[in-house]
Amino acid sequence: MDSLLVSRPRLTPRPAASTVSPFFARLPVGGGRGVAAGLRCQAQADDKDGLYMRRCVELARKAAGHTSPNPMVGCVIVRDGRVVGEGFHPKAGQPHAEVFALRDAGDLAENATAYVSLEPCNHYGRTPPCTEALIKAKVKDVVVGMTDPNPIVASKGIERLQNAGIDVRVCVEEEALCRKLNEAYIHRMLTGKAFATLRATLSMNGIVVNQIGNGADQPGGYYSQLLKEYDGVIISSNLAMMTALPVSHEAGAKQPLYIIIALGKNSHLSIPFLSEESASEAIVLTDSPIAVEPAGVEVLVLDRINLDSILQLLAQRGLCSVLVDFRDAGADFASLVNSFQEEKLIQKIVLEFLPVWTVSKGSGDLAFGGSQSFPLKHVEHKEFNGCVLLEGYV
Ligand SMILES: [Zn+2]
Repeated sequence: MDSLLVSRPRLTPRPAASTVSPFFARLPVGGGRGVAAGLRCQAQADDKDGLYMRRCVELARKAAGHTSPNPMVGCVIVRDGRVVGEGFHPKAGQPHAEVFALRDAGDLAENATAYVSLEPCNHYGRTPPCTEALIKAKVKDVVVGMTDPNPIVASKGIERLQNAGIDVRVCVEEEALCRKLNEAYIHRMLTGKAFATLRATLSMNGIVVNQIGNGADQPGGYYSQLLKEYDGVIISSNLAMMTALPVSHEAGAKQPLYIIIALGKNSHLSIPFLSEESASEAIVLTDSPIAVEPAGVEVLVLDRINLDSILQLLAQRGLCSVLVDFRDAGADFASLVNSFQEEKLIQKIVLEFLPVWTVSKGSGDLAFGGSQSFPLKHVEHKEFNGCVLLEGYV
């Protein structure tokens, strides 16, 4: 257990700007529940609250890609202006952030302020409620980054702490950052579907190309970073048959589940870059019976495959987020995402522009255009190895 404790430089916490990958930082998240009435804090007047809350988010992100279906949460215990304990939730089934931080603080938690990026839980799940741990540790007050949209938590954690005489406030200043941290978890909680991001690569003249930019899949590359962040990646059977499956090369990355879409008349699918031992890392979704190699890969034959049912299925399986990779899509795969705007199925778009001019092989190249025009929100861009990356929210 000790190995899960956060190593704690006795420090002044660093601001979060350096912590979140550059093009994921600073984006506000839409939707979600508001802060419960009467809980708004005076955080605006005290920028130390913001500082410690940003440190909570920084800690929470250490477990990026590992916590689903749980959210990422970080916690900092501060006494007399000094950080005395830190912790984060490392993965589902493990204790929550508050438990690690309180353990780290020991007796110093008494009369301290606990900062936690998400409302502490007040229910018995796989671990006892964090509210009880905070009460038992006799913390003086608790600063919460945001309320938990999970209906079994939803302000009950805050109420429990207040009933125990603990002063609770919600850190308004950093609420957007805390929401951004768990945008996928929040989306799944509120909609019952996985948060989906569509990724594609275009040439300078707007043709979809079946490659990614130079170095994008290497350590530090945007594609490698995306794969680390997402619980699953939806790919076409064309891609699975022809190239190595997408792998994140980031340190400590947990690889995403491969969701392979096999539509049409093929009765056989061979995935040459997947070994039999790794068969559980992929599932095949199809509309008609199909033999899959290697043996052991789960095959789900669905009556009617559409993006809506796929995202529901993945959410039920505990995936909060999924990347829809548009490489080697083909017409069948393209039709899956064709109506995403009307049904609000895709939340985010990541487009990469390569510095090449290509010849179109057919009119279906931009088949995922859909039927509605819309501007993207909160757009950010980045340049990497001569390629331009543009991302925004639907
Ligand atoms: Zn908890």
